[in-house]
Amino acid sequence: MTSRATQPPTDEAAAQTGRVFIRTGFRWDEQGAYLFDIDGTLLRSRDRIHFDSFYSSVRSVMGHEVGFDGVTFSGNTDPGILRDAFRLAQLEDTHWQPHLPNVLEAMRREVAARRSEMKLVKMPGVDAMLVYLKGKGAALGVGTGNLESIGWLKIELAGLRHWFTFGGFSDSYDVRSDMIAHATREAHRHAGDGATVCVVGDTPFDISAARANGLPTIAVATGHFGFDELMSYEPEACATSLEALLQTVNTGRTA
Ligand SMILES: [Mg+2]
Repeated sequence: MTSRATQPPTDEAAAQTGRVFIRTGFRWDEQGAYLFDIDGTLLRSRDRIHFDSFYSSVRSVMGHEVGFDGVTFSGNTDPGILRDAFRLAQLEDTHWQPHLPNVLEAMRREVAARRSEMKLVKMPGVDAMLVYLKGKGAALGVGTGNLESIGWLKIELAGLRHWFTFGGFSDSYDVRSDMIAHATREAHRHAGDGATVCVVGDTPFDISAARANGLPTIAVATGHFGFDELMSYEPEACATSLEALLQTVNTGRTA
C-alpha cells in the first residue's frame, strides 16, 4: 500500500472525533468541484420506498417478479441493479432490455407518488461540510447511481437542494464510472475546464469509478463499508464521517 493509515483513537476525544486519513499532498478541501454520492454519503433512507420500487416496477411492467437477493445495491446504479437481478435470474437480455425504460419510468412515478412517506436522515457533518466547501468557492454537484428524479427528490426532502448546482445520475448509465464521467463533464461546465474534480462516496465502487476517470476520492465510512475496508482500496482521503473530516480543519490537523 502506498497510503498510510492513521493511528486508531487513543483517547476519548479522538474516539469522538473519529478516524481520518489524508494522503500526503492531497488537498481535500481545495478541489474545484465535488461530486457527492447520495445514499450512505449525504443521507440514508429509513423507509424502503426506493428499494421496493425495483420489485414492484418489474412486476407491474413485465407481469412477473424478479428476485433481488444476491444483488449489490450499495454503490451500484439503479439500471445496474435491475440488470444484475435479471442476469442473476438467468433471463436473456432480449427478454428484459426492451422493458427497461418502462421499468425505470415506473420507479420514478412510484417514488414520486410516495414522497410524503419518505424518511431521510442526513449523515453527520453534511451541512457543515457543504457550507465549508461552498465558502472555499467549490462547485458542488451530485454523482449518484440514483435515477435523476429520485436523486433530486431525496436531496430536496433532506433540505439540501440549494447547495447543488449540477448532478450526474444513472438514467443513461448503468456503469458507475460512465455516470462519473458524465458528472465530471457537468462539473467542468460549471467550474471551468481546468477545475479539479473530487468524488465523495461511501463504497469501493465510488473509489474505483473515480479512479477510472483519473479523479481522487474522499471515502466516508457512513454507509455499509467500514473505515479499514475503504482504506484497503486506497482512497486519497478516508474518514469515519464528513464530520470527522471537517474536524481536521478545526484542529489544524492535516493528516
Ligand atoms: Mg452510496
